[in-house]
Amino acid sequence: MKLLCDHMLGTLAKWLRFMGYDTAYPGPLDDTQLLALARAEGRVLLTRDKELASRSPDALRVRSDDLEEQIREVASALGLRIVDPLSRCSLCNAVLLPVAPEAVRDLVPEGVRTRHQAFWQCPACRKVYWQGSHWDKMVERLNRFESPKSP
Ligand SMILES: [Zn+2]
Repeated sequence: MKLLCDHMLGTLAKWLRFMGYDTAYPGPLDDTQLLALARAEGRVLLTRDKELASRSPDALRVRSDDLEEQIREVASALGLRIVDPLSRCSLCNAVLLPVAPEAVRDLVPEGVRTRHQAFWQCPACRKVYWQGSHWDKMVERLNRFESPKSP
């Protein structure tokens, strides 16, 4: 499933990318442009705008302005799961490529290099990713979002 976040949902877009979903975040576009982009690329449009959401059957209105609640809303409406964390750059949505530790020697703190052997890099912005404690915390948070709310 491919997604498109309106300009109000930038943080949500990063998290959806982290979960492995192809998520476009084009910045400020008007309603007509957003709908055209969603249609052209086959994306579900996520928007805070009730009126805009009502204009397309492929749009989903996000009601909450709280990130955790937004993830829960979208995940339950669209049946999203963590599909492939660490597969996409959270900044630019490009698909990450595995790289050898030597190749990113100068881009990663020494402490990280001694603890990790597997690295990924964004081919667009060159940001380097590894499965460190930040990654663990994000997965832990997502797993919490996915479990049913306690009564
Ligand atoms: Zn990137």
